[in-house]
Amino acid sequence: MSRTVYDLIGLAAGVAFILALKGLSHPKTARRGNLIGAFGAGLATLVVFFYSNENSSLPLNNLGWILGAIAIGLVIGVPAARKVQMTQMPQLVALFNGVGGGAAALVAIVEYLNLGDQATTAEVVFTVFTVIVGCVSFSGSIITFMKLQELMTTRPVIFPAGRFIIAATLVSVIGVGGWVVTALGTTPLLILAGLSLLFGILFVLPVGGADVPIVISLLNAFTGLTVAASGYVLDSTLLIIAGTLVGASGTILTRLMAEAMGRSLFGTLFGAFTAKPQDVAAAGEERPVRSGSPDDVAILLNYARRVVIVPGFGLAVAQAQHTVRELADLMISKGIDVAYGIHPVAGRMPGHMNVLLAEANVPYDQLLEMDEVNPTFGQTDVAIVIGANDVVNPAAQTTPGCPIYGMPILEVNNAANIIFLKRSMRPGFAGIENELLYDPKTMLLFGDAKASLTKVVSALKAL
Ligand code: NDP
Repeated sequence: MSRTVYDLIGLAAGVAFILALKGLSHPKTARRGNLIGAFGAGLATLVVFFYSNENSSLPLNNLGWILGAIAIGLVIGVPAARKVQMTQMPQLVALFNGVGGGAAALVAIVEYLNLGDQATTAEVVFTVFTVIVGCVSFSGSIITFMKLQELMTTRPVIFPAGRFIIAATLVSVIGVGGWVVTALGTTPLLILAGLSLLFGILFVLPVGGADVPIVISLLNAFTGLTVAASGYVLDSTLLIIAGTLVGASGTILTRLMAEAMGRSLFGTLFGAFTAKPQDVAAAGEERPVRSGSPDDVAILLNYARRVVIVPGFGLAVAQAQHTVRELADLMISKGIDVAYGIHPVAGRMPGHMNVLLAEANVPYDQLLEMDEVNPTFGQTDVAIVIGANDVVNPAAQTTPGCPIYGMPILEVNNAANIIFLKRSMRPGFAGIENELLYDPKTMLLFGDAKASLTKVVSALKAL
């Protein structure tokens, strides 16, 4: 296969990636976007096998090893992706992303060894960049995986003089990087890899659980940049295109998530060093609350003119998306105005609620984003919060220093009545008390969301 054909196929794959991103920007076209992206990735992988000539830095040696590695990847990756619960998706993304960064760093090291003295300064600079960022992405992603999988504490891990240790490690990474560029040699490159792995760990440890998704997205963008840089070293336009797209879209996603959580990126990464522990409200205090039965909830809904459903992580855990749609349809058939209020970080991944509700074929025009729905809570008779907690917690507006302070919330506190469907008084992901649970206009319906909703539907049908 000639270089021109190879480049043209690479261009086609690049176009597929761009169309995929476009498709992924709307729930209606997301599935198609995903398929186009997978097609592009398949094409990009296949074309490498057919392109091999003496001018290429990608000669097709070690076919057995390559096919063996692909087989191992398939055996591990396919069942993992099929079996994973949607609520565990961020961990899986973190793991896949970390492995991608690690692979890019390994490829860069091997390529550096291959090039030896022939390497140009630009190639060495790109190699150093790939090793640093790839290793940071690998070790950082492993820590984010462990935090989200609760294999370690989800709280910020802060150690004495942490800021200085992190800064010193970063300075050493940059110094050794410079050493590799000026002196060349395998030993400094391996020291650089080791220090970068250490920096990745130190960089993510102080990030609190609720901010971990932002960091996953940031590391994902980093991995994209390493892939683009290794594309330069390997003379592969395709890797440069794919890496740049991941880097750019990852950066945009990181910014959007940080904004949705009311965070600055700096605050997310280093906030733990400045937060005062006493500012964080303690959970678990015993105080009276008003709990009701499914019949009480049905009566309240039956007399409402407008109801806003606020879904959260618990809806995904209970897999209650079909039952919630049944309830919404029933209320609409009774002439009640029904809308869903969607918070951008409800659940455990961006767009989690949209995906979940799309699965139950909830019409998109019933889904209102935070900015649209917030002004309507004042005219809402009942806000029914199903398995959500942090995204409606007024502490985000009233308690400086709490982990979610500054995050915009769905202002259900402005509705005339609030119903919470949850199993216990346990807090949400951020681990903080929600005053709204104790509000006199709040009624709690305890139990698994799906079981509770099923009972409410029956009770409402009987009215
Ligand atoms: P929360 O985690 O704040 O609250 C979930 C609530 O669901 C809990 O109060 C829990 O209470 C309840 N719950 C759990 N299981 C069930 C069940 N089976 N039936 C009924 N209720 C249940 O969720 P939110 O969606 O409000 O907020 C998302 C949080 O996750 C935010 O802090 C966000 O920052 C963070 N985050 C967001 C990501 C994203 O990209 N969307 C990614 C990762 C984290 P109980 O145990 O009592 O039932």
